[in-house]
Amino acid sequence: MLKDKLRNIKILRSLKSRIFLILLIVGLLPCISMRYAILQNYEQRAVNVKISDISTQLRILANHLITYHYLQDTSSEVINAELDQLSGLYDGRVLVINNDLRVVKDTYGISENKTIISEEVVRCIKGENTSRYDKNNGYVEMTIPITETVTLEGGKADTEAKKEIVRGVMLVSASTDTIGATLEILSRKALLVEVIVILVIIMISILAAKGLFKPFEKITEALNQVQEGYTDDPISVTDCLETEHIGEAFNQVLGRMKMLDTSRQEFVSNVSHELRTPITSMKVLADSLISQKDAPIELYQEFMTDIAAEIDREDKIITELLSLVKMDRTAADLNISEVDIDALVELIMRRLRPIAQKRDVEVVYESVRPVTAAVDEVKLTLVISNLVENAVKYNKEHGWVRVRLDADHQYFTVEVADSGVGIPRDSLEHIYERFYRVDKSRSREIGGTGLGLAITRSAILMHRGTIKAESIEGEGTTFTIRIPLKYIPV
Ligand code: ADP
Repeated sequence: MLKDKLRNIKILRSLKSRIFLILLIVGLLPCISMRYAILQNYEQRAVNVKISDISTQLRILANHLITYHYLQDTSSEVINAELDQLSGLYDGRVLVINNDLRVVKDTYGISENKTIISEEVVRCIKGENTSRYDKNNGYVEMTIPITETVTLEGGKADTEAKKEIVRGVMLVSASTDTIGATLEILSRKALLVEVIVILVIIMISILAAKGLFKPFEKITEALNQVQEGYTDDPISVTDCLETEHIGEAFNQVLGRMKMLDTSRQEFVSNVSHELRTPITSMKVLADSLISQKDAPIELYQEFMTDIAAEIDREDKIITELLSLVKMDRTAADLNISEVDIDALVELIMRRLRPIAQKRDVEVVYESVRPVTAAVDEVKLTLVISNLVENAVKYNKEHGWVRVRLDADHQYFTVEVADSGVGIPRDSLEHIYERFYRVDKSRSREIGGTGLGLAITRSAILMHRGTIKAESIEGEGTTFTIRIPLKYIPV
């Protein structure tokens, strides 16, 4: 969801902006976290130093308080001066509280003789030092017990006989404004550094994006040149591996397109040539009739029969061309059904036997095992008919054609062998090309168009099968097709 939403934001679809954002985040994150960590650390340390400073001063003062019996009598000028000095030094307030929780001295003079019941004071009377930092109001508050060391009665004059007794508490609040001010200065400096970092990152990003995307811009430009038709030379941008790969892939596509284009041009010129041949013959026949003023009716009949034969030929070429177009492997939709191949071949043989007999060719069919396969019946009929017809057409007198059907657990094979003229070795790889004929004049004589094997091969490939031909010139040819028993759609 979020990914889709982000993808819809146009600016984020640009790799340049993405790289810019990544660099910005990568640059800024450590900067911001460092600022935060350093400021935090400084504050903590500064407060701790302040607290330890004050408590040292307080401890000294606490001893003086005991020496001068200040808790009982607050008139000592020395102590009062020390207290004022302390509160002035730390810009704060010092309260001296006795262990009845009564304030005996307040440097602000507000709370004297009042009773203070605060948790910190109570805890301190029990001998515990407390300190608290109030960040929002900018002060630290701390308590220190005022202790007196007394020698226990009957005790010896060693340390174990002495005891510390808490006589009162000193409660101090000291301002931390100086820490806050330093923090602010530091923070402002850090912000300045951040702004400089942002500016530097923006500059680096712009330069990096420019440098990194230069090869891509070059390749886009080269692609546009090809697309606009200024050139169809292979493109090569070797600035980086990625563009090199894009270039290679594009050149392969370009090569394939060129090949397709050449073969399309060749096909169109072949088609025009093939279609023109019968028309030229008809024109010659018609012209010669026209030029003979008193031509006998027999001549008319003879020429018109030839013209009709040429029309049939034209018709055959057009029909075969159309079925070839239909066989376009990607566009075609096969009409797959379970077909009894044995019966199908039998039927084809029965249909072709009269033609074979006319040419005095013996046709034999051998089925090794019954086969049922998922195929397009019409297309497979066309395949087998073409092969057997060719085997009869390109045969010799008293020749033979043997058709053999076999199968394993995955494929069935149909082998069509003949005792015909054979196909020269050089021609074997071309026989599936459209309009290719080994012997043009002979093929035309027999009524061939050169499209039969092209159609056959297309139909077999549509079934994901294979076709191969073996031939010995002058002895015969064997075509073998191999088709899966089950149709596997792409
Ligand atoms: P055509 O319509 O000319 O028969 P095909 O595409 O069926 O066209 O065959 C192409 C060429 O292959 C034929 O012109 C022929 O020269 C050769 N050919 C095909 N089958 C055989 C075969 N069984 N024996 C000898 N030559 C063959």
